[in-house]
Amino acid sequence: MAKVLTRFAPSPSGYLHLGHAASARHAFRLAEKMGGTCLLRIEDIDTTRCRPEFETAILEDLHWLGFDWPMPVRRQSDHFSDYQKTLDTLISRGLVYRCFKTRKEIMEDIARAPHYAGEPYKGSKKPLSSGQEAAFLSANKPYAWRLSLLACQEYLGRPYNQLSFTDNGQECAAKPERLGDVILARKDVGTSYHLACCHDDMVQNITHIVRGVDLLESSHIHRLLQEVMNWPTPKYYHHPLLSGKDGKKFSKRDKSLTIRELRKGGHTASDVIKSLP
Ligand code: GLU
Repeated sequence: MAKVLTRFAPSPSGYLHLGHAASARHAFRLAEKMGGTCLLRIEDIDTTRCRPEFETAILEDLHWLGFDWPMPVRRQSDHFSDYQKTLDTLISRGLVYRCFKTRKEIMEDIARAPHYAGEPYKGSKKPLSSGQEAAFLSANKPYAWRLSLLACQEYLGRPYNQLSFTDNGQECAAKPERLGDVILARKDVGTSYHLACCHDDMVQNITHIVRGVDLLESSHIHRLLQEVMNWPTPKYYHHPLLSGKDGKKFSKRDKSLTIRELRKGGHTASDVIKSLP
């Protein structure tokens, strides 16, 4: 059996908070329970929000909490050319299309078809004629590369409707329609979370993905990406999110609950770990 590999994959756009500590503990614990290893991956493709000082702080805080991982740590911003290769493969298979619509135009489309309200964006397989596309390109209009669910359906045939994954040991049907034709890259940012994450889970041979339930919807799309790219499917473990006394989920805005602040306030690592559910 393949060696069990999990990963904790924070984005260095702020300091670690209690919610991250809980998530890290879930991932490291599962690896330990299964005689495997938990890797650390830095998901910093959003170069406008991610900062090296947050990355340093994340590593420091995780060590302070008692977590350890093999080196070197994979940093996504070092691998944009690999994500581009994946995108090129998807382009050559006709599974993505350029979407020139602005957020406002998409909202207007939705407003025109009220039964679509709240529905994820779903375009047609190739929404523009080649002439229109060429005109937009020469006018330098910004665009996003979207995964076409219709094209994927055609490419995979019947298996498209039979895609599934296990979540906490339960088999569930993958429903990529839940997120619709997601953005996989933009003209200026060569990859999205979905593409970089699935690519890295494949190159790092991740067998078990442990992450918050807020990413469950993404797993439905990730399962489809794995299938069209012929990548293996890890087992998923979505854990509940940690919430504060007001019932709201912790976020980077709750500065008092960052590991930094707790450290400064005199809490020990074992106090923090013990406070996690
Ligand atoms: N980078 C993501 C985050 O910080 C986690 C992604 C994942 O675990 O797949 O929320």
